[in-house]
Amino acid sequence: MLQMTRAVYDSIRAHGEETYPHECCGALLGRPAAGSWSIEEAVRAGNTRTDSAHNRYQIAPAELVRIEREARARGLSIGGFYHSHPDHPAQWSATDFAEAHWLGCSYVITAVAQGKATITNSFLLAGTTEEDKHFELEAIEVTETAEPLLAQGESKKA
Ligand SMILES: [Zn+2]
Repeated sequence: MLQMTRAVYDSIRAHGEETYPHECCGALLGRPAAGSWSIEEAVRAGNTRTDSAHNRYQIAPAELVRIEREARARGLSIGGFYHSHPDHPAQWSATDFAEAHWLGCSYVITAVAQGKATITNSFLLAGTTEEDKHFELEAIEVTETAEPLLAQGESKKA
């Protein structure tokens, strides 16, 4: 089961609506938790696929390195990735599977129908090698944060 804060859940769905009819993508930062992850932050990434941005996504390697470095500096790890499926179901595609290499990480997909986020699913990339990897549908538990009314960008320190 993938845990994420309400802020993360809302953020990845809003991102998919903003980039519609193109796909959005980003990384999920958090800490390991009981066989999966507890996600505390969603980091938006630019969709570098220009040939077919409506049905393909990719995070540039340099951007990924930067995201990972910044995560580590704050004691977090990359626990997964997310992207949207404009006018397609929240199910992984053959391309999604082929391009998924982070074993033990979660791949979150949000279906965006007519510009509105509908279903969000998470698939854990299980297995021990690139040969036996496989996606397992996992539940998403949205956790309410202690400060739900804190506006984005507002400092927690008074
Ligand atoms: Zn996809």
